[in-house]
Amino acid sequence: MNIAIIAHDKKKQKMIELCSAYKDVLAKHTLFATGTTGLMVTGATGLNLTPMKSGPLGGDQQIGSMIAEGKLDMVIFLRDPLTAQAHEPDVTALIRLSDVMSIPLATNVASAKIMLEHLKRNSI
Ligand code: PGA
Repeated sequence: MNIAIIAHDKKKQKMIELCSAYKDVLAKHTLFATGTTGLMVTGATGLNLTPMKSGPLGGDQQIGSMIAEGKLDMVIFLRDPLTAQAHEPDVTALIRLSDVMSIPLATNVASAKIMLEHLKRNSI
């Protein structure tokens, strides 16, 4: 599967913990990430992923474009719902396109764990 991971700044540590916990599962898939999330996750876990631009500089739009083109199968986007984001329209567009294309999208750790557990057990 092609999986994209994105984390807002205050959620990046949570994303590192999540990716570390599910490193063996994630390593079996093709991973994409927004720029800073990708750098931090690769640095902490060694997972191989393709980085896009940083989210505020268009990375969310790039991921959204991949969704629209049917190139992604799953998105884990650890959003920070308590901090205003300059690129909120891009975030909204990405979430909307996930729904348009019916792509599984986790926006918090609890839902991400359920999706990753599913991958672990079913090795889709
Ligand atoms: P980043 O982007 O991984 O480059 O920080 C994430 C975002 O804020 O959308």
